[in-house]
Amino acid sequence: MGAPHAVESEEQLMAAASVIKKAGACILRGGAFKPRTSPFSFQGLEEAGLELLAQARERFGIPVVTEVVDSHEVGLVLKYADILQVGARNMQNFALLTEIGKSKHPVILKRGLSATVTEWLTAADYILAEGNNQVILCERGIRTFEDSTRFSLDVGSIPVVKKFSHLPLIVDPSHAAGHYSLVPAMAKAVVAAGVDGLLIEVHPNPKKALVDGLQSLSPSDFARLMEELSPIAKSIGRYI
Ligand code: PEP
Ligand code: MN
Repeated sequence: MGAPHAVESEEQLMAAASVIKKAGACILRGGAFKPRTSPFSFQGLEEAGLELLAQARERFGIPVVTEVVDSHEVGLVLKYADILQVGARNMQNFALLTEIGKSKHPVILKRGLSATVTEWLTAADYILAEGNNQVILCERGIRTFEDSTRFSLDVGSIPVVKKFSHLPLIVDPSHAAGHYSLVPAMAKAVVAAGVDGLLIEVHPNPKKALVDGLQSLSPSDFARLMEELSPIAKSIGRYI
């Protein structure tokens, strides 16, 4: 999955979709509602952003993922998205999880910033318990004392989740890395460790990105990484 952090404009989203598809990724993620740490940061284009995502799906024929931040907005987001995303800051928003559970829609559940694997899996149970079995877990790094990366990528959680859960597991190396130069190595490590997918931030022009530009890959870096991942996946009997 390729992801400009946020849907910023029609031009930006269509350019991102084109880059992602050309490089061989199969799903487009773009945030229309963004849960920001500060209320003064860009919060997303909201419904206008959802409409642009639907246009991108139409034009490029790829499914779209977008985040839902509030249980009251699940219905609205469902009208547009193929896959929902629950962000790290909402992992234990039980009202939201329960509402999504009623929808039967595929959902990516990100690991909370300071959640243990057990807390993460039991959060997933809130969705499963409502009858929605289409849950995809997403490791995105956890908060530790280490500050040379944005979050500490917990590669160890991959075999742990694989041991205790039947759910598919993807990794978002971008939020763990915090810097584009660190993303490729982390992506390669987790593919080797056996994840089922990647969610990577990519922007047609990272320097102009409204949010998370520093950790977003440029189109050429994204295309190169996709090529470099392929033999690693193959070496463990998977393909990209
Ligand atoms: C994101 O996916 O852009 C995001 C905000 O991630 P997280 O919820 O993992 O911080
Ligand atoms: Mn982001």
